[in-house]
Amino acid sequence: MYIRVNERDNVGIIVDPEGVGAGQALPGAITAREAIPQGHKVALGAMEAGEPVLRYGHTIGFAERAIPVGAWVREEMIRMPAAPPLDDLPLSTAVPPRPVPLEGYRFEGYRNADGGVGTRNILGIATTVQCVAPTVEYAARRIKTELLPHFPNVDDVVAVTHSYGCGVAIDAPGAEIPIRTLKHISLHANAGGVPLIVSLGCEKMQPARLFANELPVLGEANVIRLQDERGFAEMVAAILRAAEKRLAELDRRRRESVPASELVVGLQCGGSDAFSGVTCNPAVGYAADLLVRAGATVAFSEVTEVRDAVHLLTPRAETPEIGRALIREMRWYDEYLARGMADRSANTTPGNKRGGLANIVEKALGSVAKSGTTALRAVATHGEKISTRGLVFAATPASDFICGTQQLAFMNVHVFTTGEGSPYGLAMVPVVKVSSRTALAEKWHDLIDIDAGRIATGRATVEEVGWEIFQFILETASGRRKTWAEHWGLANGLAPFNPGPVT
Ligand code: CA
Repeated sequence: MYIRVNERDNVGIIVDPEGVGAGQALPGAITAREAIPQGHKVALGAMEAGEPVLRYGHTIGFAERAIPVGAWVREEMIRMPAAPPLDDLPLSTAVPPRPVPLEGYRFEGYRNADGGVGTRNILGIATTVQCVAPTVEYAARRIKTELLPHFPNVDDVVAVTHSYGCGVAIDAPGAEIPIRTLKHISLHANAGGVPLIVSLGCEKMQPARLFANELPVLGEANVIRLQDERGFAEMVAAILRAAEKRLAELDRRRRESVPASELVVGLQCGGSDAFSGVTCNPAVGYAADLLVRAGATVAFSEVTEVRDAVHLLTPRAETPEIGRALIREMRWYDEYLARGMADRSANTTPGNKRGGLANIVEKALGSVAKSGTTALRAVATHGEKISTRGLVFAATPASDFICGTQQLAFMNVHVFTTGEGSPYGLAMVPVVKVSSRTALAEKWHDLIDIDAGRIATGRATVEEVGWEIFQFILETASGRRKTWAEHWGLANGLAPFNPGPVT
């Protein structure tokens, strides 16, 4: 059996878990000429050399040589097309109408003074520099065992540690990206918007640099400088004293019913395979449409996975200005990659290829399915906080842990789709993991939250899984349900994107 996504497609994706054998009869009077593994492509018609190979109704490449019907269409038989040129893209030419509002969906969240809503109640300890990280992590372990049990309404204690803060050209172009990202993570809605701040004293990224205008509001008294303390024990005692005071404040917070429009959901994929674009990503796209209809914010990201589908997105931009902002982000990243003698084709991994993805064009066409069908309402640059509701493109690298770090600047729930599988998680937000194949959901029954592979085998529709994801998001945002990543306490380290020079 195979899946043909679009009627124009001249390749199908093999669905059978064990693949198909040579000589096996396939629907449409096609005979497999050779064994073809699951997720890989079968030629549904004969192709001449140079003819386009079509998937999702779009060209994913050109046949390097003549390909007979029933053949396994492998990566080396497809020549990758150039990326869509950025100079002449259609802007706002096919803006989808405002969707029918979805009324009445709510969740139980924590309202913050700055207007944001938390989905968890966490004591966050912000750090200005990597030098303090082990000390803060030591203190956080002590806080968790000695203090947290006395504050039952607080979910967790998170040391917001990272690799940035010193030994960098902090005024160079690009430095604003990690600084902006870390500032927004430190002020995260799930930490009530008010962190404790631990600084070393001599670092480049001083608290006033990290928090800028927010520091007077947070108060200098919230800053602990390790170089001001006498010895390690006093450093830890100072952090514990401040933590106890803050825990008492956090413990008084209560969840309250808020509209679903307070959700800010970050979407990304990791370890994609050929099914990602037909199962989990379209289902997440359907959930994204439901969220947008409910008034929420949904952000998709990963520049190198959008670059080859940008011509499908600029027509959906609500205004030409938004379309131009999207192009600006693509161009910035093209130039960033060119400085490293690379281009967007450096994105695909050995796992992607094993899973049947021939190149970045095929991966991108499947990836942008996460964006659903609504108008693109805003573009946020790297590490920026989003203030617009609806569908947003938030520029990030595609690297899972860097994308997740950057999306923490704004999101209160994270949805992560995967084909090859990753036990990824984040400390600050629930991460809902959706698998592209049932085999992965079964193998990793205690890591995958939702199996979208049922779509490939006809046991569920895109709409059904989309609703399931939407309901799961509301449940987990309300704290009624934990994700598997939370259950096991899986938290990847923060990896801020630093395109600037290191000294
Ligand atoms: Ca990714």
